[in-house]
Amino acid sequence: MINLILFGPPGSGKGTQAVKLVEKYNLLHISTGDLFRYEMGNNTPLGLEAKSYIEKGQLVPDSVTIGMLKNKVDTNPDVSGYIFDGFPRTINQAEALDSLLAEKKLVIDKLLSLKVEDDEIVKRILHRGKTSGRADDNDASIIQNRINVYKQETSPVFDYYAKTGKSVLVEGMGDIDEIFERLNAEVHAI
Ligand code: AMP
Repeated sequence: MINLILFGPPGSGKGTQAVKLVEKYNLLHISTGDLFRYEMGNNTPLGLEAKSYIEKGQLVPDSVTIGMLKNKVDTNPDVSGYIFDGFPRTINQAEALDSLLAEKKLVIDKLLSLKVEDDEIVKRILHRGKTSGRADDNDASIIQNRINVYKQETSPVFDYYAKTGKSVLVEGMGDIDEIFERLNAEVHAI
């Protein structure tokens, strides 16, 4: 069992790299952003609630996000590991994840944080916005808000897992395969 957190600012390549890690290590990919977009696409009550936050580039409240995440983990017990993408985004979420895993006698093995410069992030997200159809990828002020939220609320999660020696910073600039090799080296070192 390997349990990873793929971490980093919006547009740092978490989704792209998660797909490649999943293929190589046979993990279950849990992206809270994807789960919210699925709910929004189906106009469920959860989706409608999430939409009002997502479209402003704000975090969906922890109570909603943690409940959804817990449900996804609980309904997929027979896996060889999880890769959490876009979760946890607050210290409260990190503590909830650790207790959820502890109940199952599991732990997070590593938090892999992709390091990408701010202007590159904005460029990548606006580029993705041309095809993603995401309202939150198409407006510079919403993107800036997402970056600010990352810095204020999410980046402390790196320090939280650093306390147990689990956080590593990985250069996220460059070629997709090159970045994947850097992540692989970190997974092999577990
Ligand atoms: P992402 O696809 O990971 O960039 O997430 C898109 C949006 O979904 C974020 O800007 C948040 O509004 C919301 N979201 C995704 N994951 C979380 C989370 N763990 N906590 C709160 N909001 C989240």
